[in-house]
Amino acid sequence: ATPTAVMVATGKGAQQGVLIKGGNALESAQKVRCVVFDKTGTLTTGKPLVVATKLFENMALKTFYRIVASAEANSEHPLAKAVHLYAKTFGEDWISGKQHETKDFETIAGQGVRCMVEEKEVYIGNRSLMINSGIEITEDVQDQLDETELAARTGVLVAFDKRIVGLISISDPVKPEAARVVSLLKSMGVRTIMVTGDNWGTARAIAQEVGIDTVKAECSPGRKAEEIKMLQLEHKSGVAMVGDGINDSPALVAADVGMAIGAGTDIAIEAADIVLMKSNLEDVVTAIHLSRRTFFRIR
Ligand code: ADP
Ligand code: MG
Repeated sequence: ATPTAVMVATGKGAQQGVLIKGGNALESAQKVRCVVFDKTGTLTTGKPLVVATKLFENMALKTFYRIVASAEANSEHPLAKAVHLYAKTFGEDWISGKQHETKDFETIAGQGVRCMVEEKEVYIGNRSLMINSGIEITEDVQDQLDETELAARTGVLVAFDKRIVGLISISDPVKPEAARVVSLLKSMGVRTIMVTGDNWGTARAIAQEVGIDTVKAECSPGRKAEEIKMLQLEHKSGVAMVGDGINDSPALVAADVGMAIGAGTDIAIEAADIVLMKSNLEDVVTAIHLSRRTFFRIR
């Protein structure tokens, strides 16, 4: 393609909210044979809602959420925001200002968070977080977790002083266009894959809902990048990664074409070759089409 053709294509893209960072990015998109999607915030709306809470110990829901929300106030994760939003339903008063002090906050990427709230050591996150922290998952807890995941919900476990005290069930609906985009890509001869830090149960349920048949679940951010590299061996230089930048920036960088969801993090937008400003998955197809049209028309 001529430099003019590339300019025209990137200009067209920009008009439609598809920011293509230069000629190389545009050319790479034409070679894509496999698109890897992150789950949370990419295939799903990323606006998850708390739909149920199960307490394993005798305590008031309000007391539980006051501690949990105080801890999650330190996190940028969409699940943390869901918890915070829900906690507000117990009263604005303590959320704005009167929440507990937290100390020693840490994020464990792809697993959850840990901090001190008052005198309690609080862990909030997935099964791996609990197991890696030496916290026992009883049969009762595991049963509740299985049930949650089967319903395509994410079960967030909460432990106080190394005992699991609650399970928060969070639903993050898939984007309305997700299934259509997956089937469009398939019809274009492009393979679709999901990588996620979330558990296998929820991941499989969501993948089935959108029509993706290959799933890699319980991946750390590093693992997501490793999966990309393995796919690159299989598909030569034809692997695109679509993500929002929360726990998937290394994968966006590793991919031949990194596509960032516009509503994602600044890191994602920086790391990506293409930015989907409207946060609409249809634009994954738009980008590939633009590139194919530009580079297949070489005379
Ligand atoms: P995804 O790959 O689907 O975007 P992440 O890698 O961001 O998911 O997170 C993986 C899992 O880690 C989440 O599904 C959740 O169980 C847990 N997790 C991460 N951060 C938090 C948090 N702040 N609060 C609760 N759970 C969390
Ligand atoms: Mg994500």
